[in-house]
Amino acid sequence: MEPRDLSSHTVYRAGRGVEEVARDLGLDPDSLVKLSSNENPFGPSPAAAEAVRDHADRVHRYPKTAHVDLTEKLADRHGLAPEQVWLTPSADAALDYLARAVIEPGQRVLAPTPGFAYYPMSARYHHGEVDDYVLSKADGFAQTPETVLDAYDGHRVVYVTSPHNPTGSEMRVEDLLTVAEETDEETLVVYDEAYIHFTDSPSAIGVVTERDDVAVVRTFSKAYGLAGLRLGYAAVPESWADAYARINTPFAVTEPTLRAGLAALDDEDHVERTVEAVEWSREHLQGGLDARTYGSGGNFVLAEVGDATAVAEATQRRGVIVRDCSGFGLPECIRVTCGTREETERAVETINEVLAEVSVA
Ligand SMILES: *Cc1c(COP(=O)(O)O)cnc(C)c1O
Repeated sequence: MEPRDLSSHTVYRAGRGVEEVARDLGLDPDSLVKLSSNENPFGPSPAAAEAVRDHADRVHRYPKTAHVDLTEKLADRHGLAPEQVWLTPSADAALDYLARAVIEPGQRVLAPTPGFAYYPMSARYHHGEVDDYVLSKADGFAQTPETVLDAYDGHRVVYVTSPHNPTGSEMRVEDLLTVAEETDEETLVVYDEAYIHFTDSPSAIGVVTERDDVAVVRTFSKAYGLAGLRLGYAAVPESWADAYARINTPFAVTEPTLRAGLAALDDEDHVERTVEAVEWSREHLQGGLDARTYGSGGNFVLAEVGDATAVAEATQRRGVIVRDCSGFGLPECIRVTCGTREETERAVETINEVLAEVSVA
């Protein structure tokens, strides 16, 4: 036998980790600065790390109460009913759960280009077909209702990222409401707030109490620094919230992960320190890089550098790992994650050195 026809599916290639790059270059992993995956440069909250250790000897049990506790804590925080919070093993999984719940085979979805690779992947896994809407560089990647609606043609799902990865642009909540209003009743607008902590713009979570056609996706991978545990959630409208019980993978979020999530939510100082560092780093990158940069609501900055692959390879040889955005459809851009002061200063210096050499050559 053979798997089903997967020729339209793209192959996901994860960014290379610090150990891998260090081994290839013959460098000490501790000498490398990794600013390629929008992770938290301070690591997890110490309380979250402790929660993982504390639950290590109880992992013979299926996770139950902690799942209820974290769901209730999030619901409480956002003013939702617990059923409206779908806990998932990562925000990627939240996208999958939403696709499981709404996409019928052959239905079409609309996703941004450039954009987060997992939207089309998830839709195709769930037998959906994918069209895109374009965020245009000439407009600074602006996200207006028209950006989406001009490409909209009765799609079942429309994905919006705000702040947007990899450009940093945002769609205002009132514009999200216009998109939801102007699209069909049977269209779900998925609003991905993976980077919400890093912007002053308001969250759209409250919208799920007012409308039955918007879901909001969140992750613990960015501001909370729990990328390695895989934890996220979707906030969904009350009228179809009970679909979770029919589509979720039982016990998919692990006990140590749930405990870490609970601890991370309580450690507001850690989030605050992270956000302050990001604000400083973002300004330093925007002001310091000898390249055009774009305004960003996220913990990263997009910079236009000419040949992104060559620049990213050259900075990596000097120990600074950044994201070459060719895979996002921006072959002239790199995305630099906001690091600590030291990391940011080294990144600016290294990237500028590389740019100076490229322009001389
Ligand atoms: C990082 C990211 C996510 C995924 O987060 P995980 O919880 O680690 O799967 C989702 N959406 C966007 C736009 C992201 O950049």
